[in-house]
Amino acid sequence: MRVLILGGTTEASALARLLAADARHEATLSLAGRTARPLPQPVPVRSGGFGGVAGLVEHLDRERIEAVVDATHPYAARMSVNAVAACAEAGVPLASLRRPAWERQPGDLWQEVPSTAAAAAALGDPPRRVFVTVGRQELHVFAAAPQHRYVARLIETPDQDGLPPDLVLLRQRGPFDRAAEERLLREQAIDVVVSKNAGGSATYAKIAATRALGLPVVMIARPDKPVGHVVASPEAALAWLDHQRSLRGV
Ligand code: NAP
Repeated sequence: MRVLILGGTTEASALARLLAADARHEATLSLAGRTARPLPQPVPVRSGGFGGVAGLVEHLDRERIEAVVDATHPYAARMSVNAVAACAEAGVPLASLRRPAWERQPGDLWQEVPSTAAAAAALGDPPRRVFVTVGRQELHVFAAAPQHRYVARLIETPDQDGLPPDLVLLRQRGPFDRAAEERLLREQAIDVVVSKNAGGSATYAKIAATRALGLPVVMIARPDKPVGHVVASPEAALAWLDHQRSLRGV
């Protein structure tokens, strides 16, 4: 079966590995193209936006895609909106691989806010030392709170325009471990962390480190993402694809 994986996450790559090893499926992994040197993948990769819903419908048709798995990041809402609309229009079944959110644990000092702009405001007036892990696309939002000293961890260097003035950039790709995260927070004398609730294990070590050090976290809430058939793991996505295949009688 011809499968399109909407990716950019650990789970999307794990599903690609499962499908690469399964002769019943022929998968392509789609990336937004934000990362200049994405990690090698075990299936063919296409890169860049489709051109909205109409572009995705055309792609599904042209490539004779028989099933789509939306395995994008929990905060990549636009792609998921488009996937639901395009799959409905094209009559292609859609599964959505949803990574459970992190749950607050005893000792966690989280302040939940609805957006990245609200996170910048929540830092308050007195200057603080802030560790920011929101990704390159939204770092400029913190220019609205220029009194703070920011340490930002990113995979790619951001455009230099409009960034907060007091900023240290760390170019690193996860996964990260807890001891290294604690060391980083201590060395940089961080007193608050801003994070998305990404879920999963690859970036959880920073949350465990804040708990151990008694540091507060400004946690940006997840956007509502529309979904197809919800699956919780790459293995469950594969089982769903097998079911779709049997429905097609192949
Ligand atoms: P987004 O806001 O939902 O998407 C914006 C546009 O980028 C989409 O309308 C689509 O363009 C294109 N796009 C997004 N994901 C794509 C994909 N997998 N394949 C092809 N085109 C894609 O998404 P985003 O927040 O920019 O995230 C982009 C990618 O980075 C996603 O693959 C996501 O999984 C990954 N990522 C995001 C975050 C985050 O915090 N947002 C964190 C880690 C990884 P067209 O309308 O032209 O089709």
